[in-house]
Amino acid sequence: MAIERTLSIIKPDATNRNLTGKINAKFEEAGLRIIAQKRIQLTPAQAGVFYAVHKERPFYGELCEFMASAPVVVQVLEGESAIAKNREVMGATNPADAAPGTIRAEFAESVGENSVHGSDAPETAAAEIAYFFSGLELVG
Ligand code: GDP
Repeated sequence: MAIERTLSIIKPDATNRNLTGKINAKFEEAGLRIIAQKRIQLTPAQAGVFYAVHKERPFYGELCEFMASAPVVVQVLEGESAIAKNREVMGATNPADAAPGTIRAEFAESVGENSVHGSDAPETAAAEIAYFFSGLELVG
């Protein structure tokens, strides 16, 4: 197994409800290290660039507005198979389908307001990390 890095975002529904610490405890308990982290307020345009892959989807506008509706915590998680492990800890996109104990099962409010984002592949992880962090900010 390889050591990987992946981008994680704690979304506005979770920062609004003061869940940052509880969510990050789940990552750390799963063996993922938070090697970079910041709390930022996105504009709808910045959220739109980040989610450009979903531009044609009917929920794109709603998603961009939601991501800009309150601060988010962007962070880089590192560990063995971090990309898959993060998604396992997050749970399925729709909380109704998420396995018990996962972040989305415990905290997500809906398929849209689902508390966390995680990169889905090595290429997207590299691009998403570079969107928010410079190399100097990845401190290990
Ligand atoms: P993820 O990789 O599990 O986050 O899921 P996707 O890449 O399929 O979708 C990206 C994000 O778009 C999700 O995490 C949701 O916030 C949002 N999203 C996905 N499907 C829907 C939907 O049917 N309605 C709404 N409002 N948002 C959605």
